[in-house]
Amino acid sequence: MLSRRTMIAGNWKMYKTQKEAQSMVAELLDLIESNLKVETLICPPFTVLTSIGKILKDTSVGLGAQNVYWEDQGAYTGEVSARMLVDCGCTYVIVGHSERRQYFKESNEIINLKVRGILKSRLSPILCVGETLNERERGEVESVICKQLKQGLNRVGPKEITSLVVAYEPIWAIGTGQTATPETAQEVHAMIREALSFQYSESLAAQIRILYGGSVNAQNISDLMAQSDLDGALVGGASLDAQSFATIVLRADTRPSRKGI
Ligand code: PEP
Repeated sequence: MLSRRTMIAGNWKMYKTQKEAQSMVAELLDLIESNLKVETLICPPFTVLTSIGKILKDTSVGLGAQNVYWEDQGAYTGEVSARMLVDCGCTYVIVGHSERRQYFKESNEIINLKVRGILKSRLSPILCVGETLNERERGEVESVICKQLKQGLNRVGPKEITSLVVAYEPIWAIGTGQTATPETAQEVHAMIREALSFQYSESLAAQIRILYGGSVNAQNISDLMAQSDLDGALVGGASLDAQSFATIVLRADTRPSRKGI
């Protein structure tokens, strides 16, 4: 039997210079212990991946990227491949974040190409899904998210799927201070697990971690983590400060591990 290890991932978005990033990470490493049950991950901007990767090497904190292009190399000005991210020490890549869907017009088809490019390089995708407030008010939460999962995971086989992490990020909760209630989040997480069961199998779906993201902070993390299908959090704003991110990690550490089948 496998268990779903709690994961807390920090999405730094487009924040921090070299100096700021290095001092934040040094402070964070001082604040969190190395033998945590929680898998802790930082996803900084591309420009600091190499330097932060060196600092995090041989620590308990992992490194992820916020974006990727699906080809290995070539004439794609401005893009970065999964192979290059491996070279920087990354093990995860965030894909399908709502800011990329909204501002950079990334469709489910583009996101699927990225997911498959990530898996081909043996990195793990953190696939973000979530609805807008309008979609929620129209009762479309399930249809929107099922479509994001179905199309985003098109041609991703059962062998690859266990390295996937899903992040449920309701768009109305991102950066707004308006967190989903633990019950609302649990309802959607259970629906996501059921959709994955239908797409793959119950035993595979039981092994996939589903993170919650949307205004997570040190005050609300414990209540969110008490829900059975919440396996961790993707944290934006509150991951930029070492003290607040460390508190989130330490509070999530008290969550009992969930059994996969
Ligand atoms: C995010 O950007 O993934 C996010 C969840 O942001 P915030 O925590 O700031 O709402």
